[in-house]
Formats: sequence, C-alpha cells, structure tokens
Amino acid sequence: MTTKERILTGIGVGRGLVVGDVRRMPDPLPEPPQTNSTLGADAELGRATVALSETAEDLRDRGRQAGGLAKDVLDALALMADDQMLHADVKNRIDRGATAERAVFDAFAGFASILEAAGGYMAERAGDLGDVANRVIARIMGVAAPGVPQSTTPFVLVARDLAPADTALLNFDIVRALVTTDGGPTSHTAILAREKGLPAIVGAKSAEVLVDGDVVLVDAGKNEIVLHPSAVRIEEALIEAEARKAARAGATGPGRMADGHEVALLANVGSSKSASAAVEAHAEGIGLFRTEFLFLDNDTAPSVDTQQAEYAAVFEQFPGQKVVVRVLDAGADKPLPFLTDDGEENPALGRRGIRALFAHSEILRDQLTAIAQAAAATRADVWVMAPMIATVDETEEFVALCREVGIAKAGVMIEVPSSALLAHHILEIADFVSIGTNDLTQYTVAADRLLGTVADLQDPWNPAVLRLIREVGRAGEVTHKSVGVCGEAAADPTLAVVLIGLGVTSLSMSPIALADVRAEISRFTLAEARELAERVLSSRNAADARIAASAVLTQ
Ligand code: PEP
Ligand code: MG
Repeated sequence: MTTKERILTGIGVGRGLVVGDVRRMPDPLPEPPQTNSTLGADAELGRATVALSETAEDLRDRGRQAGGLAKDVLDALALMADDQMLHADVKNRIDRGATAERAVFDAFAGFASILEAAGGYMAERAGDLGDVANRVIARIMGVAAPGVPQSTTPFVLVARDLAPADTALLNFDIVRALVTTDGGPTSHTAILAREKGLPAIVGAKSAEVLVDGDVVLVDAGKNEIVLHPSAVRIEEALIEAEARKAARAGATGPGRMADGHEVALLANVGSSKSASAAVEAHAEGIGLFRTEFLFLDNDTAPSVDTQQAEYAAVFEQFPGQKVVVRVLDAGADKPLPFLTDDGEENPALGRRGIRALFAHSEILRDQLTAIAQAAAATRADVWVMAPMIATVDETEEFVALCREVGIAKAGVMIEVPSSALLAHHILEIADFVSIGTNDLTQYTVAADRLLGTVADLQDPWNPAVLRLIREVGRAGEVTHKSVGVCGEAAADPTLAVVLIGLGVTSLSMSPIALADVRAEISRFTLAEARELAERVLSSRNAADARIAASAVLTQ
C-alpha cells in the first residue's frame, strides 16, 4: 500500500535538503502525582538516592565518551544530581510523606526557581536542572529517559525542542536533520543547526504527527517537511540538493547581486581561534568581533597588554580587510560579576551593554586603548562599535571617547527600538551602525530571547522588526553611511535579500552560513530586493511575510 504524501510546514534553518527516517525524542515525563507514599520513607529514600547517584554516574559516563565541551556540560549536570543540599531537601520531603518521584520533582523545582529569580546566566541553568530532574524521575519510574535516542544508523531527529544537554551529545554523523514542534528561529536548536550547517525546521506544530520510522524529506530552504515522499519527489529533491550544493560551491568571492550591486559578506567571531573559520569561508572581513570571551571567566578586566595581544591575533588574520570590534557587552544573557549588578530584577532592561561600561569608564577606556594599539600594530581596517545604544546622547559620548583614543571609525549597534527610530540622528554622529537583530527582535516584541515559552515571538521576520530596520536603512541612505546586520537574521538567505532591499549594506553571520547567503543574494538585483522588501513590510505577521517572500523568490 502506498501512503499519501503530506506536507508539514515550519521555519527552515539554512538551505539543506535531506531524506531520512524519523526518530522521536521521548516527550517530557508527566508531573508525578502528589499522593502520599505507600512504601514508607526508608524505601522511598532508597529509590531516590539510587536514582540520583545512577543519573550522576550516567551523565559523567556520557561526558567521558563525548569529551571536549560536551564533557564540561555533562559534568556540570552530574554535579547538580550530586548536590548535597538537594539530597537533604529530597530526604526532608520524603520524611514528610512524599513519594521518591514527587520529592525529586519538588526539590529540583525549588532550586530551579531560586536560579530563575537570580536571572541571566543562572536562570539559563534552571532549564538544565529540569533536564536532570527528568532523568532521575525516569530512573525511579523505570521508563525511558528523555533525551536523544541512541542509534547507529542515520536519522532525522524530531523533538519538541532541544535542551543544551541534548545537543551536547548529538552525533552529527548520525543525525541528518532536526525538526522541532516548538521553539523559533532563535531557539537553541536553530542556533545549533546554523552553527553546524545541519538542515532544520523549527516551530513545525504539525510535525506532532511524526512517529518513529516515518520517512520524511526535510527541505529547510522551502520551510517544509514532506511525510511519505513519493519516489519521484525524492529523486527531484536529490537533484535539487545537488544543484544547491553546486550553487554554494560556485558562490565564491565578494558578495554581489545579479546586477553587480555589492553587499559585503562578513563573519561573526568570538575569538582568535574562530577567526580562522571566517578566513576559510572567504569572509570579506569581520562584521562582529564579540570580545566577551576575554572577560567572562575572569574576576577583573584583563590588562591593556593582554587585551591588545588578543585583538592583534584576530586583526592579523585580516590584513587590509574590515574588522568590526564590539566593546564588551555585559549583562542580561552575558552577566559579569565585576561589571553588572546581580540584584537587578530585570537585567535585560537594566544597566547592561554600554550602560554598564559608562558606569565603569576605566574598563571602557582601557578596552578602547587596547583596540587602538592593536589596530596600529596590524594592517586590518579596524572599526569599533558599542552595544545596546538607546539614545543619541550615548552615541555622542561613545564616539567622543573613541576619537580621544585615536579610533578612526566609531559606530553603534542598533538593538533597541528607540535607536532604530532615531537612526537618522545617530548616523549624523556615528560613522556607521550595525543592527543586532537578536536583541532588536527581543525588545520589539517584549519576549526574552532565552525563554523557550516565548520563542515563537522571537522572529525577525515580524514586520514590526522589519519596519524598524527600514528606518535604519533609510537613515543610512540619506547619510551615505554603512548599515550592517550582525544578528542571526543575516544568516537566513531569504531574509538576507529582504534586508538588502531595506537598505542594509553589509551582512555578518557565522562563517558556515556565508556560502548559502552568497549564493542566494547573487540571484537577485537590488531593484528586485527592494520590491520584495516592500511586499514583506505590508504583511500582517512573520508567517505572512515569509509567504510573501517565497511567492516572489520561487517565481
Ligand atoms: C544581536 O543582539 O543581534 C547581536 C548580534 O548581539 P548578541 O547576540 O551578542 O547580543
Ligand atoms: Mg545583542
């Protein structure tokens, strides 16, 4: 019997196209009931203690197998299961009559809410605690632990969403594509897929119907999953996949549209090591050098000399090319004890980014000095920008400080709606702007970029976000100054064309995304991109905007 094809849609990440068998990640466990124990406290405590220590051992084992960064993640999770305060809390609850599974559930939930209240990095760890709790409870109940299914043959992984603990263990030789029913384009799953060049469709609600063994064709470029694809469709898809691969391989050199209009294609990097990936991917330079890596694991800011050496190690790799350095962006998702205030109730709206630097001006001055010295010692064309600028006054203060230390090109990031709306004033002062669409989206729709439950709102295709970008693009046109995009949006090939139509002059992304974006923009003229942008801007929501774009692009 042949089964009918069915098209399921979601948000595609990248341009990949693969055919494979579905393996589903088990759904989260149901909440254990609040009934009193019938086994007695000693037996319950025994069940809980064994499950906690077996889970810790299992996590450490997986860490040993995986090695590298994954080992650090898994060892940290094992420590959570071993935590003595948590064990004491579980025992207390059991002594008061709880079952082992309920005691574990409540004890972990209590700890998670303390972390959540702390905000920022600590709040992110709350999700990991939930993951460890589920593993322990599954062991107590004797059911399959949630997590990535084990397999020796390739498969398409289908899940609600993937937690960092799941993705740390993914074997990219076996997992061919990712499909999630929840989450959005800036979810952890989407970021991982982009980093690894793995096809993914996120937020595909209708993928709920997929079961183990279903054959699917995942086409990230078309935002669709075809369930039970026909032999003809598979054959056509494989030809199309080859064509896309060839387009990617053939797309080298600087970013250029079909009419010759140039759009610089740059890379986002976070250290001197990752800069080499940018060189290999033929980036025309660096559009966002995140400098947090130098500060994050330290109790104080590194010296000017240490910073200068690190910056020079990146600049040296781009002689004669542009390198846009962002000064330290601390706070909210990147807390730094010596710069940001732990006590803030809402750190995303607190003293973060440039606000934290102005409050510690010696740190900002030292960093700018180190950048200026490294620039003078190398041949890179160094531009410097400030994160989280919300006002024209902040722009003035930052640009003046740059001038004082001898930085020739001083710009700001547009990540807050207020600065997008005032871009024309900002660009009268700054030499350039770069739009951080991750934060700009977060602040436009008032949805925390780290919170899975509001991930579907975190969509840069939202016409409200695109209208703000158009304001900035127009300001760039009027002032003849450069308007870059360095958020995740730049790595979406279709959105990249729209952004150019909105007036963006350079795009910066993780190096792996460059080839697809280079190939896609070369298919259109600037006039076509502008027309596309106009259509998208009049859409009612992100989904309609995508449909409007694909109607034009597939013509
Ligand atoms: C952004 O907000 O889009 C951005 C590029 O900065 P970050 O992701 O580092 O906050
Ligand atoms: Mg940002």
